[in-house]
Amino acid sequence: SSLKFKEQVAIVTGASSGIGKACAIHLANLGAHVVVNYSSSQDEGQKTVDEITSNGGSAILVKADVSNEEEVKAMFNETISKYGKLDILVSNAGLQQDAPFLEMTLKQWQKVIDVNLTGQFLCCREAARIFVEQSKKPQENNHNELSIGKIVLMSSVHDVIPWAGHVNYAASKGGVMMFMKTISQELAPHKIRVNSVSPGAIKTPINKEVWSDPQKYDGLMDLIPYKRIGTPRDVAKAVAWLASDDSDYVNGETLYIDGGMTLYPEFADNG
Ligand code: NAD
Repeated sequence: SSLKFKEQVAIVTGASSGIGKACAIHLANLGAHVVVNYSSSQDEGQKTVDEITSNGGSAILVKADVSNEEEVKAMFNETISKYGKLDILVSNAGLQQDAPFLEMTLKQWQKVIDVNLTGQFLCCREAARIFVEQSKKPQENNHNELSIGKIVLMSSVHDVIPWAGHVNYAASKGGVMMFMKTISQELAPHKIRVNSVSPGAIKTPINKEVWSDPQKYDGLMDLIPYKRIGTPRDVAKAVAWLASDDSDYVNGETLYIDGGMTLYPEFADNG
Protein backbone atom coordinates (compact mmCIF):
# COMPACT_ATOMS: atom_id res chain seq x y z
CA SER A 1 0.00 0.00 0.00
CA SER A 2 1.15 3.58 -0.50
CA LEU A 3 0.31 4.13 3.17
CA LYS A 4 3.67 2.84 4.36
CA PHE A 5 3.10 3.96 7.92
CA LYS A 6 -0.52 2.93 8.38
CA GLU A 7 -1.30 2.63 12.11
CA GLN A 8 2.26 3.61 13.07
CA VAL A 9 2.87 6.37 15.60
CA ALA A 10 5.62 8.94 15.05
CA ILE A 11 6.98 11.78 17.17
CA VAL A 12 8.62 14.61 15.23
CA THR A 13 10.46 17.18 17.37
CA GLY A 14 10.69 20.77 16.24
CA ALA A 15 7.77 20.25 13.86
CA SER A 16 6.50 23.83 14.00
CA SER A 17 8.85 24.92 11.23
CA GLY A 18 11.12 23.99 8.33
CA ILE A 19 12.39 20.43 8.03
CA GLY A 20 10.49 19.07 11.05
CA LYS A 21 7.23 20.43 9.70
CA ALA A 22 7.83 18.79 6.31
CA CYS A 23 8.69 15.48 8.01
CA ALA A 24 5.52 15.56 10.11
CA ILE A 25 3.33 16.28 7.08
CA HIS A 26 5.03 13.66 4.90
CA LEU A 27 4.82 10.89 7.52
CA ALA A 28 1.16 11.74 8.15
CA ASN A 29 0.44 11.63 4.41
CA LEU A 30 1.94 8.13 4.46
CA GLY A 31 -0.53 7.08 7.16
CA ALA A 32 1.28 7.72 10.46
CA HIS A 33 -0.32 9.25 13.52
CA VAL A 34 2.02 12.15 14.19
CA VAL A 35 2.91 13.90 17.42
CA VAL A 36 3.83 17.43 16.34
CA ASN A 37 6.26 18.81 18.92
CA TYR A 38 7.03 22.49 19.32
CA SER A 39 8.79 24.44 22.05
CA SER A 40 7.69 28.05 21.80
CA SER A 41 5.51 28.82 18.78
CA GLN A 42 2.13 27.23 19.45
CA ASP A 43 0.52 28.96 16.45
CA GLU A 44 3.11 27.56 14.07
CA GLY A 45 2.81 24.09 15.59
CA GLN A 46 -0.96 24.27 15.20
CA LYS A 47 -0.51 25.13 11.51
CA THR A 48 1.39 21.87 11.02
CA VAL A 49 -1.41 19.93 12.75
CA ASP A 50 -4.07 21.74 10.71
CA GLU A 51 -2.31 20.97 7.45
CA ILE A 52 -2.15 17.28 8.41
CA THR A 53 -5.78 17.03 9.46
CA SER A 54 -6.99 18.95 6.41
CA ASN A 55 -5.21 16.30 4.28
CA GLY A 56 -7.22 13.66 6.17
CA GLY A 57 -4.33 12.72 8.47
CA SER A 58 -4.02 12.30 12.22
CA ALA A 59 -1.92 14.50 14.51
CA ILE A 60 -1.71 16.04 17.96
CA LEU A 61 0.26 19.06 19.14
CA VAL A 62 2.59 18.63 22.13
CA LYS A 63 4.72 21.34 23.71
CA ALA A 64 8.13 20.34 25.05
CA ASP A 65 11.60 21.81 25.18
CA VAL A 66 13.75 18.87 24.05
CA SER A 67 16.55 19.94 26.39
CA ASN A 68 14.27 19.62 29.44
CA GLU A 69 14.12 16.08 30.85
CA GLU A 70 10.71 16.43 32.53
CA GLU A 71 9.09 17.99 29.48
CA VAL A 72 10.53 15.28 27.22
CA LYS A 73 9.21 12.53 29.50
CA ALA A 74 5.80 14.21 29.61
CA MET A 75 5.71 14.35 25.79
CA PHE A 76 6.39 10.61 25.47
CA ASN A 77 3.81 9.84 28.18
CA GLU A 78 1.23 11.93 26.37
CA THR A 79 2.00 10.08 23.13
CA ILE A 80 1.43 6.71 24.78
CA SER A 81 -1.76 7.81 26.52
CA LYS A 82 -3.14 9.21 23.25
CA TYR A 83 -2.04 6.54 20.74
CA GLY A 84 -1.05 3.57 22.94
CA LYS A 85 2.37 2.99 21.36
CA LEU A 86 5.32 4.48 19.51
CA ASP A 87 7.02 3.29 16.28
CA ILE A 88 9.10 6.21 15.02
CA LEU A 89 11.07 9.11 16.48
CA VAL A 90 12.31 11.87 14.20
CA SER A 91 14.65 13.79 16.49
CA ASN A 92 14.87 16.98 14.50
CA ALA A 93 14.77 20.00 16.84
CA GLY A 94 17.86 22.15 16.56
CA LEU A 95 19.12 25.71 16.48
CA GLN A 96 22.13 27.92 15.82
CA GLN A 97 23.64 30.65 17.97
CA ASP A 98 26.53 31.89 15.90
CA ALA A 99 29.57 33.79 17.11
CA PRO A 100 33.28 33.98 16.31
CA PHE A 101 35.12 31.57 18.57
CA LEU A 102 37.03 34.36 20.32
CA GLU A 103 33.75 36.02 21.26
CA MET A 104 31.53 33.02 21.90
CA THR A 105 29.97 33.06 25.34
CA LEU A 106 29.53 29.97 27.50
CA LYS A 107 25.81 30.63 27.29
CA GLN A 108 25.86 30.42 23.46
CA TRP A 109 27.98 27.27 23.59
CA GLN A 110 25.77 25.62 26.20
CA LYS A 111 22.44 26.49 24.57
CA VAL A 112 23.36 24.84 21.28
CA ILE A 113 24.84 21.74 22.93
CA ASP A 114 21.77 21.49 25.19
CA VAL A 115 19.24 21.55 22.36
CA ASN A 116 21.14 19.90 19.50
CA LEU A 117 22.98 17.16 21.42
CA THR A 118 21.50 16.71 24.90
CA GLY A 119 18.04 17.08 23.36
CA GLN A 120 18.80 14.12 21.09
CA PHE A 121 20.01 12.13 24.11
CA LEU A 122 16.83 12.80 26.08
CA CYS A 123 14.42 12.07 23.21
CA CYS A 124 16.25 8.98 21.93
CA ARG A 125 16.53 7.52 25.44
CA GLU A 126 12.78 7.84 26.06
CA ALA A 127 11.98 6.39 22.62
CA ALA A 128 14.37 3.46 23.13
CA ARG A 129 12.92 2.70 26.58
CA ILE A 130 9.43 2.55 25.08
CA PHE A 131 10.57 0.40 22.13
CA VAL A 132 12.27 -2.11 24.46
CA GLU A 133 9.18 -2.24 26.71
CA GLN A 134 6.94 -2.79 23.66
CA SER A 135 9.19 -5.54 22.30
CA LYS A 136 8.55 -7.61 25.41
CA LYS A 137 4.88 -7.84 24.47
CA PRO A 138 3.89 -10.41 21.83
CA GLN A 139 4.28 -8.79 18.41
CA GLU A 140 1.36 -8.96 16.05
CA ASN A 141 1.97 -8.78 12.31
CA ASN A 142 5.73 -8.98 12.66
CA HIS A 143 6.47 -12.38 11.19
CA ASN A 144 9.38 -11.03 9.16
CA GLU A 145 11.34 -9.88 12.21
CA LEU A 146 11.36 -6.31 10.98
CA SER A 147 12.57 -3.47 13.17
CA ILE A 148 10.23 -2.72 16.07
CA GLY A 149 11.36 0.89 16.52
CA LYS A 150 12.99 3.41 14.23
CA ILE A 151 14.91 6.54 15.17
CA VAL A 152 16.07 9.16 12.67
CA LEU A 153 18.29 11.94 13.98
CA MET A 154 18.61 15.28 12.22
CA SER A 155 22.30 15.99 11.89
CA SER A 156 23.97 18.26 9.31
CA VAL A 157 26.77 18.28 6.74
CA HIS A 158 28.57 20.03 9.60
CA ASP A 159 28.98 16.66 11.27
CA VAL A 160 31.91 16.35 8.81
CA ILE A 161 32.49 19.86 7.37
CA PRO A 162 34.19 22.23 9.84
CA TRP A 163 32.40 25.60 10.06
CA ALA A 164 34.24 28.68 11.27
CA GLY A 165 32.03 31.00 13.28
CA HIS A 166 29.73 28.14 14.28
CA VAL A 167 31.86 25.94 16.53
CA ASN A 168 29.02 25.21 18.96
CA TYR A 169 26.82 23.99 16.08
CA ALA A 170 29.54 21.93 14.35
CA ALA A 171 30.56 20.37 17.67
CA SER A 172 26.94 19.50 18.45
CA LYS A 173 26.42 17.82 15.06
CA GLY A 174 29.78 16.03 15.20
CA GLY A 175 28.58 14.76 18.57
CA VAL A 176 25.28 13.66 17.05
CA MET A 177 27.18 11.41 14.65
CA MET A 178 29.03 9.41 17.33
CA PHE A 179 25.97 9.47 19.58
CA MET A 180 23.89 7.99 16.74
CA LYS A 181 26.45 5.32 15.81
CA THR A 182 26.97 4.28 19.41
CA ILE A 183 23.31 3.88 20.28
CA SER A 184 22.70 2.17 16.93
CA GLN A 185 25.30 -0.43 17.87
CA GLU A 186 23.85 -0.78 21.36
CA LEU A 187 20.18 -0.96 20.36
CA ALA A 188 20.41 -3.14 17.24
CA PRO A 189 20.00 -6.41 19.22
CA HIS A 190 16.64 -5.03 20.38
CA LYS A 191 15.63 -4.64 16.71
CA ILE A 192 15.74 -0.88 17.05
CA ARG A 193 17.26 0.95 14.09
CA VAL A 194 19.00 4.30 14.48
CA ASN A 195 20.25 6.42 11.57
CA SER A 196 20.91 10.08 10.76
CA VAL A 197 20.05 12.41 7.95
CA SER A 198 22.58 15.18 7.28
CA PRO A 199 21.13 18.01 5.24
CA GLY A 200 23.22 20.53 3.33
CA ALA A 201 21.62 23.91 2.65
CA ILE A 202 17.86 23.61 2.97
CA LYS A 203 15.56 26.60 2.54
CA THR A 204 14.10 27.15 6.03
CA PRO A 205 13.95 30.02 8.54
CA ILE A 206 17.25 28.85 10.14
CA ASN A 207 19.29 30.23 7.19
CA LYS A 208 16.93 32.84 5.73
CA GLU A 209 19.66 35.43 6.06
CA VAL A 210 21.65 33.49 3.38
CA TRP A 211 18.98 32.53 0.82
CA SER A 212 17.11 35.85 0.98
CA ASP A 213 20.26 37.82 -0.03
CA PRO A 214 21.06 37.38 -3.78
CA GLN A 215 24.81 37.84 -3.26
CA LYS A 216 24.97 35.32 -0.42
CA TYR A 217 22.76 32.97 -2.43
CA ASP A 218 25.31 33.06 -5.31
CA GLY A 219 28.09 32.33 -2.83
CA LEU A 220 26.08 29.39 -1.52
CA MET A 221 25.72 27.97 -5.04
CA ASP A 222 29.55 27.75 -5.25
CA LEU A 223 29.27 25.16 -2.47
CA ILE A 224 26.54 23.08 -4.15
CA PRO A 225 27.53 21.05 -7.26
CA TYR A 226 23.84 20.36 -7.98
CA LYS A 227 23.23 24.16 -8.14
CA ARG A 228 20.02 24.44 -6.20
CA ILE A 229 19.08 24.93 -2.58
CA GLY A 230 17.37 21.95 -0.94
CA THR A 231 13.75 21.88 0.16
CA PRO A 232 12.38 20.56 3.45
CA ARG A 233 10.57 17.95 1.35
CA ASP A 234 13.89 16.67 -0.07
CA VAL A 235 14.87 15.87 3.52
CA ALA A 236 11.46 14.53 4.57
CA LYS A 237 11.53 11.89 1.82
CA ALA A 238 14.89 10.59 3.03
CA VAL A 239 13.66 10.55 6.62
CA ALA A 240 10.59 8.55 5.57
CA TRP A 241 12.80 5.99 3.81
CA LEU A 242 15.00 5.56 6.90
CA ALA A 243 11.89 5.23 9.08
CA SER A 244 10.34 2.61 6.79
CA ASP A 245 10.85 -1.13 6.37
CA ASP A 246 12.45 -0.43 2.96
CA SER A 247 15.63 0.39 4.88
CA ASP A 248 15.30 -2.47 7.38
CA TYR A 249 18.95 -3.57 7.01
CA VAL A 250 20.35 -0.02 7.36
CA ASN A 251 21.85 0.66 10.80
CA GLY A 252 24.03 3.49 12.08
CA GLU A 253 24.24 5.24 8.71
CA THR A 254 24.37 8.92 7.90
CA LEU A 255 22.55 9.87 4.72
CA TYR A 256 23.78 13.17 3.24
CA ILE A 257 20.98 15.12 1.54
CA ASP A 258 23.09 17.97 0.25
CA GLY A 259 23.21 18.30 -3.58
CA GLY A 260 26.86 17.25 -3.36
CA MET A 261 28.01 19.79 -0.77
CA THR A 262 30.23 17.17 0.88
CA LEU A 263 32.05 16.46 -2.45
CA TYR A 264 34.75 19.18 -1.99
CA PRO A 265 33.13 21.35 -4.72
CA GLU A 266 36.16 23.67 -4.96
CA PHE A 267 38.08 20.79 -6.55
CA ALA A 268 35.65 20.71 -9.49
CA ASP A 269 37.43 23.64 -11.21
CA ASN A 270 40.93 22.64 -10.19
CA GLY A 271 42.07 21.28 -13.59
P1 NAD B 1 13.92 25.83 11.81
O1 NAD B 1 14.49 26.91 12.63
O2 NAD B 1 12.96 26.14 10.74
O3 NAD B 1 13.30 24.70 12.72
C1 NAD B 1 13.85 24.31 13.93
C2 NAD B 1 12.77 23.72 14.77
O4 NAD B 1 13.33 23.28 16.04
C3 NAD B 1 11.68 24.72 15.10
O5 NAD B 1 10.44 24.07 15.00
C4 NAD B 1 12.00 25.10 16.54
O6 NAD B 1 10.85 25.51 17.24
C5 NAD B 1 12.52 23.79 17.06
N1 NAD B 1 13.26 23.93 18.32
C6 NAD B 1 14.28 24.77 18.60
N2 NAD B 1 14.66 24.63 19.89
C7 NAD B 1 13.84 23.68 20.41
C8 NAD B 1 13.73 23.07 21.69
N3 NAD B 1 14.53 23.44 22.70
N4 NAD B 1 12.79 22.12 21.88
C9 NAD B 1 11.97 21.74 20.88
N5 NAD B 1 12.03 22.28 19.66
C10 NAD B 1 12.95 23.23 19.43
O7 NAD B 1 15.21 25.11 11.17
P2 NAD B 1 15.35 23.81 10.26
O8 NAD B 1 16.28 24.20 9.19
O9 NAD B 1 14.05 23.22 9.92
O10 NAD B 1 16.16 22.87 11.26
C11 NAD B 1 15.71 21.61 11.66
C12 NAD B 1 16.92 20.71 11.92
O11 NAD B 1 17.64 20.55 10.71
C13 NAD B 1 17.91 21.27 12.94
O12 NAD B 1 18.39 20.21 13.75
C14 NAD B 1 19.02 21.81 12.07
O13 NAD B 1 20.26 21.82 12.74
C15 NAD B 1 19.00 20.81 10.93
N6 NAD B 1 19.65 21.27 9.71
C16 NAD B 1 19.12 22.28 8.95
C17 NAD B 1 19.76 22.67 7.79
C18 NAD B 1 19.24 23.76 6.89
O14 NAD B 1 19.96 24.14 5.95
N7 NAD B 1 18.07 24.29 7.11
C19 NAD B 1 20.95 22.04 7.41
C20 NAD B 1 21.46 21.04 8.20
C21 NAD B 1 20.79 20.65 9.35
